Amino acid sequence: MRDILLRLSEEEGAGPAVIHRLSDEDVAACTGESEKTLRAYVRGLRQQADLAAGIKPLEWNVAVNCRGCGPVWLWPTCPAEVIACPWCRHRKAGTRIPTPDPSLPT
Ligand SMILES: [Zn+2]
Repeated sequence: MRDILLRLSEEEGAGPAVIHRLSDEDVAACTGESEKTLRAYVRGLRQQADLAAGIKPLEWNVAVNCRGCGPVWLWPTCPAEVIACPWCRHRKAGTRIPTPDPSLPT
């Protein structure tokens, strides 16, 4: 199963590290899932790793005001203001998160 995930991760551009970090239990839990689901899982793992490293997903290009973080980049269907966001826990963990310049129009 891990070899399948490694192949899909490579094809999705997510790299091998996100798969190597998975526990054997997490890998085993993927058994029986469709390739479409596994590809979405791999993309999600990559996105979580990027957020933890302070890397903005390409499609998160809308400036949103988070009550916890202040101005942050989120996806286009987000409301203009949110109570909390996916960056909050990474900011609290000490990650430097990318922020839009609040003086620029969005
Ligand atoms: Zn936030």
